[in-house]
Amino acid sequence: MPKILTKGDPVKRPTEKPGEGWGVNGDRLHSPNDQVVPGIVKILMIENNPADVEFTQNELKKGDISYIIKVVQNENDYRVAISEFIPDIILSDFALPKFDGDTAFKIRNDLIPDTPFIFISGTIGEEKSVDYMKDGLTDYVLKDKLYTLAFKVRRALDDVAARREKHKVEEELIRSEMRFRALIEKSTEMKTLSSPDGKFLYASPSVTITLGYDTDELLHKSIVDLLHEDDMPTFLNNRKGVMHVPGNSVFNEVRLRHKNGNWIWCEGFTTNMLHEPAINAMVSNFIDISDRKLIQERISESERFIKTITDNLPAMISYWDAGMRCLFANRTCVEWFEKQPAEMLGIGKKELLGDSEFKLREDHIKEVLNGKAQRFEHTFHRADGKVINTDTQYLPDKEGDSVKGFYSLIYDVTEVKKAELAGIRALEERNTILESIDDAFFAVDKDWVVTYWNNTAEEVLKTPKAAIINKNLWDVFATAVGSQSYKCYHEAIQTQRALHFEDFYPPLDKWYEISAYPSAAGLSVYFKDITERKTSEARLKELNENLKKRTKDLAVSNAELEQFAYVASHDLQEPLRMVTSFLTQLERKYGDIIDDKGRQYIHFAVDGAKRMRQIILDLLDFSRVGRTEDDLETVNFNKVIDELLALYRRHIEELQAVIVAEKLPILQTYKTPVRQVFQNLISNSLKYHKPGSAPVIRISCSENNTNFQFSVMDNGIGIAPEYFDKIFVIFQRLHNKDEYSGTGMGLAIAKKIIENLGGKIWVESAEGEGSTFYFTLPKNLRK
Ligand code: ADP
Repeated sequence: MPKILTKGDPVKRPTEKPGEGWGVNGDRLHSPNDQVVPGIVKILMIENNPADVEFTQNELKKGDISYIIKVVQNENDYRVAISEFIPDIILSDFALPKFDGDTAFKIRNDLIPDTPFIFISGTIGEEKSVDYMKDGLTDYVLKDKLYTLAFKVRRALDDVAARREKHKVEEELIRSEMRFRALIEKSTEMKTLSSPDGKFLYASPSVTITLGYDTDELLHKSIVDLLHEDDMPTFLNNRKGVMHVPGNSVFNEVRLRHKNGNWIWCEGFTTNMLHEPAINAMVSNFIDISDRKLIQERISESERFIKTITDNLPAMISYWDAGMRCLFANRTCVEWFEKQPAEMLGIGKKELLGDSEFKLREDHIKEVLNGKAQRFEHTFHRADGKVINTDTQYLPDKEGDSVKGFYSLIYDVTEVKKAELAGIRALEERNTILESIDDAFFAVDKDWVVTYWNNTAEEVLKTPKAAIINKNLWDVFATAVGSQSYKCYHEAIQTQRALHFEDFYPPLDKWYEISAYPSAAGLSVYFKDITERKTSEARLKELNENLKKRTKDLAVSNAELEQFAYVASHDLQEPLRMVTSFLTQLERKYGDIIDDKGRQYIHFAVDGAKRMRQIILDLLDFSRVGRTEDDLETVNFNKVIDELLALYRRHIEELQAVIVAEKLPILQTYKTPVRQVFQNLISNSLKYHKPGSAPVIRISCSENNTNFQFSVMDNGIGIAPEYFDKIFVIFQRLHNKDEYSGTGMGLAIAKKIIENLGGKIWVESAEGEGSTFYFTLPKNLRK
């Protein structure tokens, strides 16, 4: 059952091959206007009169139309034919017994309105036909003017063909525009059309996506509104360049402001298409290169970073490819090679180093290019003539099994070498010192392993170096564990403070004076054998103690003696007075009866008793020295001398003595004893004057930090040096009483007084040259 088309069903286009059962004329026709009517025309005819069918076909043949025809007489066949025969044109009678042209026309309008429909009728009037034509009727042919049919069919078919062609072209156009639109609209490239002053006329969707503005906003802006001010001058300059040259393009790399304020890096071409009437705009194609820029920035930042690091490293850093060409060099090359890093690029290793320097490194270069890292030291002659010591490392840059090149890292170790050398020298020097010092010395590390042991230590501790170096100190000196030294060494290390102490080492029966100096490395110990000193110290101590005891004993006996002298001299006074007084009585009462001899004897006895009395008085004075409890007082020595001069006035006058007293100090001291000293010295100077010449006595005083030093100088008989000490001893005299009176006590008393006050007394003299007696008084008086 053939399918009957309804409105909306697809209708197949006419095929070029005739369907089975359809009549074909087999000819190919040309239209009057010489347009080719494509293929064979399929004609659907609605006609019940076979004669009319016949006439119609004749006309078509006459008209040179090649066709196949299907004739139907009712609606059903008509619909089937529409859907299966698919006519190129419908020719319809107007009035039929079982069908009518009007219905057929409407069905055609419904189902295949583009297929030409021509009424062939004798009955349809002109007016009606015009109405139908308004509704889409293609044409009409009156049966009596059937000769026009072929022409009208051909014209209708040509029209259809022309319409279809136009439609096709239009469709093609639409498709093509859609393709271009899709190209533009789906492209991620930003495409804009802009007026000469930069106003956007069109912006592709990617512009709105990339920059965030919607189309309307963009169309109110100019590209200049979005430009970064730094990019403006170049951009404007570029645009000026292309503006007057139709078709010219210019490349720009600019920052455009996103609606959110961020800057988007874009690059692309702008082409001047102002001359093209259909376009009349500047055409720009830009892409967003922000990501690329970011990567570029990161790369250049990391390059800068690497450059900053490497340029500031105190080393020559470079990279060499397998062909020994430099691909990188840090700034050290300026100093070493007098070349900028950029000048280094591409330079050959040999060319850079020169033959001789290259030769020194050639083997290492070969090795590193074989993948083996190298490290070596060499001297290097810099371009400025300086010769430095270098520590070089070559590290291979491997990729799989192959070596692409190598990194070279060279340190200037000149200073290190110098320091090393200085260190070695200092060590040698130290060792020489340590070996030559009198002290014994050893050093231990933190584990008490002996690292140094000098010659003296070998001797003092009776242990050769070989027996102790690199051994644990306490293993070798096990007996010293727990000793004073053991404790002090540990304490020094713990407190990190030097310790000085003495220790006795029983196995060697020796005393040592020890200094232990802790350090980061361990402990350094200096020590010396002080056994001798210790022994003499002990002896000295013993002696001292003996001395103290003796002194104490002496003091006791001295005190007893003094007591005895005092008592004796005091008690002797009385009997002596009796002897003198009775002798005097004897002389007075019996003077007449005693002869001259007797009187002389009495005189001698009285004289002896007087002298004895003087001796006893002197002895009493002597024994009193230091016993009196005088108070300290301010003593003006000038006044003391004046008093004494007054005392000796007559004697001085007799002798015509000259006494010169310089200005003397005023001191806090004990007046009576010091006055006694001056008195004894002045009286001696008067007494022991040279016979026949007047005595000249000079009294003066000087001082130093600790003492006042007084002197009494005379021009007397002087004293032979061998008596300088003797004269200060009690009762010691150099002359007999006939030459010079005296008891020999004056200087002994003076000595006792001065020494009692913490001073000293002595004489400088030469026989016949006069004498000078000196005595000192300490500024810090002790009593
Ligand atoms: P004395 O004067 O009573 O003999 P001293 O103790 O004062 O006793 O003196 C001891 C001795 O020192 C004197 O005998 C005298 O020989 C000698 N001597 C003392 N002073 C002087 C002096 N200024 N010049 C020379 N000899 C002196």
